[in-house]
Amino acid sequence: MTVGHLIAGMIVPGASGRFGDVYDPATGLVTKQVAFANRQEVDAAVAAAAAAFPGWAATPPARRAKVMFKFKQLLEAGADELARLITSEHGKVLSDAHGSLARGIESVDFATGIPQLQKGEFSENVGSGVDSYSLRQPVGVCVGITPFNFPAMVPLWMFPLAVSCGNTFVLKPSERDPSCGMRLAELALEAGLPPGVLNVVNGDREAVEALITHPGVAAVSFVGSTPVAEYIHRTATQHGKRVQALGGAKNHAVVMPDADLDQAADALMGAAYGSAGERCMAISVGVAVGDAVADALVSRLKERLARLQVRPGTDPKAEMGPLVTREHLAKVRGYVDQGVKEGATLVVDGRDLKVPAGEGGFFLGGCLFDRVTAGMKIYQEEIFGPVLAIVRVATVEQALRLINEHQYGNGTAIFTRDGDVAREFVQRVQAGMVGVNVPIPVPVGTHSFGGWKRSLFGDHGIYGAEGVHFYTRLKTVTSRWPTAIAKGPEFVFPTTR
Ligand code: NAD
Repeated sequence: MTVGHLIAGMIVPGASGRFGDVYDPATGLVTKQVAFANRQEVDAAVAAAAAAFPGWAATPPARRAKVMFKFKQLLEAGADELARLITSEHGKVLSDAHGSLARGIESVDFATGIPQLQKGEFSENVGSGVDSYSLRQPVGVCVGITPFNFPAMVPLWMFPLAVSCGNTFVLKPSERDPSCGMRLAELALEAGLPPGVLNVVNGDREAVEALITHPGVAAVSFVGSTPVAEYIHRTATQHGKRVQALGGAKNHAVVMPDADLDQAADALMGAAYGSAGERCMAISVGVAVGDAVADALVSRLKERLARLQVRPGTDPKAEMGPLVTREHLAKVRGYVDQGVKEGATLVVDGRDLKVPAGEGGFFLGGCLFDRVTAGMKIYQEEIFGPVLAIVRVATVEQALRLINEHQYGNGTAIFTRDGDVAREFVQRVQAGMVGVNVPIPVPVGTHSFGGWKRSLFGDHGIYGAEGVHFYTRLKTVTSRWPTAIAKGPEFVFPTTR
């Protein structure tokens, strides 16, 4: 089976002659091929989106919203099928796949409010007989380039709001798990999006390069790793596009001595090992304040890791599935080797895990390092796997310094019962999303998502109100009618008198 492209409402096979393998990570077997688009195929997708733009931009927002209502219904009715697609190509457990889809549907929900969200402002009589009003108009053809780890949620952060604002769209899903993006687009067309309003090109770097430099593209949304995010932001900006590029992370959870340590350990388990750590909001560093907290936390985590059910994602007992590819598994294992070499204490070693019914799959057991220090590579770099590092500090001040000096600033959390400490942490921490006794503070669809520092390049977060601003541009109109116009030319700069 081959996954092709969706251009101008038609599914087309790839014409470039280049294809990639898609795996079932639980078995390690190739299940599909995905076509890699070349420049001509990208040109065709952008041309379809450009041709659809004038008609779609002129469609009343209430009618666009109607399509989103229908799309939401179809997503909910098709949730089991979509979750199975996610698990079959990404590997995450089915319940988690369902959860991530539900979080994506929040953005569709939000987009159904577009008549209200895109409403302008009007000021009467800003000067004698002069009125002023502001509109937010669509920007044109928008592009979305998405990562492997959320094959439904991240595309849903982008195209529903972009098209609801009156734009047309070209999606380039991850080549590791391309089927879900295609299925989402089919459902959006079934919901009533006219052909060309939403297109999908599959592919790798070649397709991305063609999209971000294409003269017909107005805006680029990217979510993925930091080196690629930085490159996309730089290149697409140089080509005159509006760009939001969300990158990688190293999210710290601070555990204070007054925290409920069982609750904190449970929270860290889910946040560090859920989805095999392949979440940009995963907690990958636990910062224990005081040695007593560190000892108690490490022993609780060790106990829980011994019970962690690592199995194929379709197994109802599974709590953690495999990693996405053999290459990624090797990379994460390499980081575990590196941590041992650097002198961190490997309390739980998941490298030799044998998974029943998982032979050939890309499995790694949960790994736990203690006594990790700021200079180590396993602390500095994003591992993106089931590896939790515990760093020991003496005070909350030291915890804050550690987090604030890190290159990434996506999410963070604090576990405490002390409101004063939590409030000060929230105020001073250098990260875009903060949890107080909440380990993965991904904002709901009515707020916006975005990190700080090297976790986001660009001026806007994604979805919510930030998304409406990103996908629209402001036009302000000042008008008067003949009776209010004085006779003869006016040479002075207009004032409000
Ligand atoms: P990735 O950067 O390898 O790939 C993301 C997209 O970019 C894919 O569509 C891929 O085809 C394309 N791409 C990859 N290399 C490219 C290159 N050299 N030139 C042009 N395009 C290229 O990321 P990934 O491995 O798919 O996803 C994991 C990363 O995404 C992690 O770093 C994770 O933290 C990050 N992520 C961030 C967020 C966020 O909201 N900040 C959310 C999810 C994932």
